[in-house]
Amino acid sequence: MPAPLRLHDTRTGKVEDIVPATPGVLRVYACGPTVYRDQHVGNMRSYLLPDLISRVARRAKLRVDLVVNVTDVGHLVDDSVADTGEDKLASQARAEERSIAEVADHYLARFHADLAALNIYPAAAYPRASESIDLMLRLTATLLERGNAYVGDDGNVWFDARSFPSYGAISHNRLDALQAGAGSSTDEVGSKRFHADWALWKATAPDAAVVFDSPYGPGFPGWHLECSAMSLDALGESIDIHTGGIDLRFPHHEDERAQTEAAVGHEVVRHWVHGEHLLFEGRKMAKSVGNVVLMDDVVAAGLDPLAVRLAFLRMRYRQQTDLDWDALRAADRQLTRWRREVARWAESPSEALHAGYDRRVAAAFADDLDTPAAVVALQELFADDAVSDGSRFETVAALDQLFGLDLARDVGRAPDVLPEGAAALLAQRQEARGRKDFATSDRLRDELAAIGVAVTDTAAGQEWTFG
Ligand code: AMP
Ligand code: ZN
Repeated sequence: MPAPLRLHDTRTGKVEDIVPATPGVLRVYACGPTVYRDQHVGNMRSYLLPDLISRVARRAKLRVDLVVNVTDVGHLVDDSVADTGEDKLASQARAEERSIAEVADHYLARFHADLAALNIYPAAAYPRASESIDLMLRLTATLLERGNAYVGDDGNVWFDARSFPSYGAISHNRLDALQAGAGSSTDEVGSKRFHADWALWKATAPDAAVVFDSPYGPGFPGWHLECSAMSLDALGESIDIHTGGIDLRFPHHEDERAQTEAAVGHEVVRHWVHGEHLLFEGRKMAKSVGNVVLMDDVVAAGLDPLAVRLAFLRMRYRQQTDLDWDALRAADRQLTRWRREVARWAESPSEALHAGYDRRVAAAFADDLDTPAAVVALQELFADDAVSDGSRFETVAALDQLFGLDLARDVGRAPDVLPEGAAALLAQRQEARGRKDFATSDRLRDELAAIGVAVTDTAAGQEWTFG
């Protein structure tokens, strides 16, 4: 049987066939959010990746077991400095004068709302770090027993990087080339024996609110440990795909892989898959850059949240994508146009779906999530009047299982009815634009806006929305 999906594997550097270890089931683990603030649209791009994988797998009749962890403890503001780093949740809780649990619950609920707005299907489970401390301690004990970790005289427990010969396989950072201080997992101080070792358990708690008991004394877990503990617990010792944003490749995934595989004695994650970053107006979207856009901001700008999804689909997951408000507005208009068309097609008698377009789109998705090619095929279907309306309707409705753009949403809805006089103003404006009389066209746009009709000019002519 051909592989249901091909994906670029960061470790091998090649596009690989994804063949589930257990026939019929695809096990996927995605690194999830740290719930101390809103996730921005850039973060959401990273969570779209497992959704696209899941949609392709479901179309191939696989059951998808997707697990997304929630970090609500142990992620330091500056994870590189064990002694001075502050826990992200604890410091946010102080700033908001709320408990850590309230902060976590609040941002987790917001995260789920943002996922829903983007039509990202819920995962099978969202384990929380604060509820997995025992799992992490058990894993630490196993690693100590197996000789992959040691306890320092200051109570920190360190992973012995040199005990795991294939360290560096994902990021191609070789231990002998990693200089002290060069990477964020390399500069922790204290009792460690080798600069690239990292903490499984940190004895110096950054905050009294996040201290747990352990056989090594009070402390808290290292951030990388949670994903090893939770993925093994939730998905077992064979995971088909592990995803995350590209920045997680090192040190997070490298350290996670070492912990997990040293503990069980064999390879666990079959494919590591990373999504590239979202840029906004030319720079990586990040709080520190100051170009953060939230899903709420998109809605406040009057745009459909799925315009973000369409804008993402226009680029492949492993290409950097640069967005701006113009691109989001264009995607929003595109969705409106497409949905109007689909609603019109739905009035025709249904006919069998068009196997050619159906296969082309599905093949593009399965080919390392070539969503730009899939969107082009969709665009062509919209333009292809040789395919009957009834057939186009069936085809688009079926393909929307992959796109997730709610393309049939306007079926059966009352068409936009223009307010009194608007049609005449629109016609006058079109005529003025034809004469290149832009002063009149701008005046007419304002008049239309005053009666609630928003006009935009596109390559295809003027378009309007009402209400
Ligand atoms: P963080 O909250 O920083 O831990 O990030 C959560 C997820 O979003 C991780 O998988 C990051 O790799 C990812 N991420 C952060 N910034 C971006 C961005 N600008 N574009 C895409 N993914 C991002
Ligand atoms: Zn992780």
